[in-house]
Amino acid sequence: MRRLSRSCRIVTTISLADIEAAAARISGHVRHTPVEVSPSLSARAGVSVHLKLEHRQITGAFKLRGATNAVLRLAEKSRPTGVSCASTGNHGRALAHAAKAAGIPAVICMSKLVPQTKVEAIEALGAEARIVGRSQDEAQVEVDRLVAEEGFADIPPFDHADIIAGQGTIGLEIAEDCPDAETVVIPLSGGGLIAGIARAVRARLPGARIVGVSMERGAAMQASLAAGRPVEVEEMPSFADSLGGGIGLKNAYTFEMVRDLVDEVILLTEAEIAGGMRHAYFEEREIIEGGAAVGIGALLAGRLRPKGPTILLLSGRNVDMRQHRAVINGANSLEEIA
Ligand SMILES: *Cc1c(COP(=O)(O)O)cnc(C)c1O
Repeated sequence: MRRLSRSCRIVTTISLADIEAAAARISGHVRHTPVEVSPSLSARAGVSVHLKLEHRQITGAFKLRGATNAVLRLAEKSRPTGVSCASTGNHGRALAHAAKAAGIPAVICMSKLVPQTKVEAIEALGAEARIVGRSQDEAQVEVDRLVAEEGFADIPPFDHADIIAGQGTIGLEIAEDCPDAETVVIPLSGGGLIAGIARAVRARLPGARIVGVSMERGAAMQASLAAGRPVEVEEMPSFADSLGGGIGLKNAYTFEMVRDLVDEVILLTEAEIAGGMRHAYFEEREIIEGGAAVGIGALLAGRLRPKGPTILLLSGRNVDMRQHRAVINGANSLEEIA
């Protein structure tokens, strides 16, 4: 009897051509964000350090790239009744904006526990905020119902080919704007962002090293890599709230792509993330959220040993400004913020 070898499995992955097609599709709908050198980080690291200012993307985070690519592809194939997801964070904002721009209704499902400010932010972007149940899982049940009964498309935040290809367009911009880059450092949660970027950078800058950074508190991808399969971890509050959540036990794309394309994953403490946010503010004059500060935090903490010209991706700026002020004033953990 022959065992099914790995090469016999149907491999679902995203190619450079998919990412180039995404770039052509979303161009004009999203910003090509700037890259700036950081003199203070370069001096500290002994190599030139460049910041990719993706927090200046429309809607304040890179997730608009994937959401726009997914929505425009749906509109090309067949116009759906609408699009939906259960994310109230940067993906929900991005999907609301992308759907409105394409003239497609969006219903963002969320639980009663979601703060009113987040509900209003989604509505301001032109989507319906539908309040269902008391947990994210109950909100997802309503998304599933919209798909089954009303012809909606569920657009998930990371484990989806069009989302990964859209986020990968950042990798094309890095290769174009920084052809000398040798180390590329990317915030890591579900892995859609780093999977897409790694695919593009590996193709365009074959020698470059790809490094992911997550927080110690609930690093689902790192735990899954260690286990050799997707596993669940306990979710804990963190400054890097946009890096929280699991990778999905039925993960279809990002687990294997991260395993095969990413060279190293670094985990940070809350104080190290806060240090990254403070450096961004005081030295770079940039307001960024905790999840976007992990590259700077890793470098300042000495956990990242950069080789050659280094790119740190600043992924978003949608931080609660009360929390940001507390960090700027020295808070090193959420527990210190009443
Ligand atoms: C979603 C998000 C990430 C992580 O992206 P994944 O594709 O889930 O790895 C990083 N930074 C910010 C600001 C985000 O919103």
